Amino acid sequence: MELITSKLLEVPHGFPTREGGVSTGVWASLNAGSAVGDAPEAVALNLGLLAAAAGVDGDRLFGVTQVHGEGVVEAPIGAQTEADAIWTGRAGDAVGVRTADCVPLLLVDPVGQRVAAVHAGWKGTLAQIAARTVEALARAGSRPADLRAAIGPSIGPCCYAVGEDLIARFAERFPSGICVRRPAGPFLDLPLAVQTTLMRAGVPAAQIDPLGLCTACDPRFFSHRRDRGLTGRHFSFVTCRF
Ligand SMILES: [Zn+2]
Repeated sequence: MELITSKLLEVPHGFPTREGGVSTGVWASLNAGSAVGDAPEAVALNLGLLAAAAGVDGDRLFGVTQVHGEGVVEAPIGAQTEADAIWTGRAGDAVGVRTADCVPLLLVDPVGQRVAAVHAGWKGTLAQIAARTVEALARAGSRPADLRAAIGPSIGPCCYAVGEDLIARFAERFPSGICVRRPAGPFLDLPLAVQTTLMRAGVPAAQIDPLGLCTACDPRFFSHRRDRGLTGRHFSFVTCRF
């Protein structure tokens, strides 16, 4: 397994590449998506490998049913729970989100000892799911100024061609740098929008690590757009172990 990590997060965590799983074909090999056509047994085995990488038992690795919304839930919860961010302060639990171009965001509060995983596609980013998660952590006692954040591999402004209508919606809420104009048309910088959202929510810039990896450029990753919908899902995780 190849795990991309951030030096800012001093707990077990990782943004996996495709390597190290048991799935075959377009899902090769570390697919964690259970609704993308892959064999359920292979997905279950892959999740077991990811739990081991997170340093937890399989029943302590929590995800949610993602719906491109702004819901934030606290683990432990059932995997059928619909939300796009999940956090925990229970020592020995790990939380994660599934992505294949959307932005996976991991948050750590080393003072309050809480961790969170966030799935931010364009809908969730417009709905400021990252800020909703910071607020949920704050309600539990965390200070935004204490949070560390890592913005994982997602489709980047190099590849994320979008329509003018979407650019206009983002331009209402974000600085102009969100849009990159080229002869081919406008491109959206989704990770920069997430980073901006975090800073507005009170997370210091120096405590945000934008890893800058593009899932569509880099063949190490599943990419919904590059692979035309026939692909797997990464499961990025963070463990509450301080
Ligand atoms: Zn790219």
